[in-house]
Amino acid sequence: MFYGPVLSRRFGYSLGIDLVPFKVCVYDCVYCQLGKTTNKTVERKKYVDIDFKDFETELIKRINDSPYIDYITFSGSGEPTLNSDISKFIDIIKKNSDIPVAVLTSGGTLGFDGVVDDIKGADLIKVSLDAPDNRLLKKINRPCREVNFNKNISGLKKLLDDFSGDIWLEIMILEGINDDLDSAYRFKHIINDLGEGIKKVHLNTAVRYSGESYIRLPDRERLKEIKGILGGRTYIIGRKGKISYKESKRELSKIEEEIIELLKRRPVSINDIASSLSLNLNEVIKIIDKLLGKGEIKYSINENMKYYFKPKELKA
Ligand code: SF4
Repeated sequence: MFYGPVLSRRFGYSLGIDLVPFKVCVYDCVYCQLGKTTNKTVERKKYVDIDFKDFETELIKRINDSPYIDYITFSGSGEPTLNSDISKFIDIIKKNSDIPVAVLTSGGTLGFDGVVDDIKGADLIKVSLDAPDNRLLKKINRPCREVNFNKNISGLKKLLDDFSGDIWLEIMILEGINDDLDSAYRFKHIINDLGEGIKKVHLNTAVRYSGESYIRLPDRERLKEIKGILGGRTYIIGRKGKISYKESKRELSKIEEEIIELLKRRPVSINDIASSLSLNLNEVIKIIDKLLGKGEIKYSINENMKYYFKPKELKA
């Protein structure tokens, strides 16, 4: 349930909490770095069998073990808001810590009864908005049939009305799918209509291994054009975003464990591993060679880049 802290491009050192098993989501995005959705559902329920007291004990231990956490982040193997206890987990964190809490959501559940209320105790909510209309929502996110574009936008508006923290939008820009200028102007219209409550808009690209082989990175110049159309709150998320960095000393066995833990979550490049875990590149290369040699991890190639991952069937 807990993982990290890992160093991420936008959240600095982030202690992750995964509230659903692999891979429970309302979407089956064509670019998903976790691969195909195995349980596409709108059902909200407990999903993880953990006693709240045990959660609190583990949380306190993790915070004490890692005095450099920038965010506690609900993310991971699917859509965290499908867990019907998310508000209780947020409350427990707020009771025990001042570290800001972030919820990373697909946005596909915001129109469901109770979801906005359940996450409004967080400090930051990042919402994906990859499509400017229902046709592209279906094409990119392949949602459950109960989810549609208008419902998502209504949910987002409710979030803007009821939530006092920061809201960021993320648009995954995919070449030939939503990187045309007509889509950019439609995104601009939607974002302007949502208003100033949207603090940042991130243009992301599928730099990691993605589910469908036809996914391509957009042209850098096109990204800049889209950023220009969307205006001042928009940022392009590059391979090396702005990250906070705090050094820590770890033993080799602990580093191997951290790498394996990261590779269980998502396929990552050598550079991503080094920056996520604040390690020297040569050190990572040696450990990866060792883990490949032992058969503990595998890799795939996307856009001429190797992405390492730990398949579920391989031993720990
Ligand atoms: S919303 Fe996130 S976890 Fe769900 S399919 Fe899309 S990218 Fe994957």
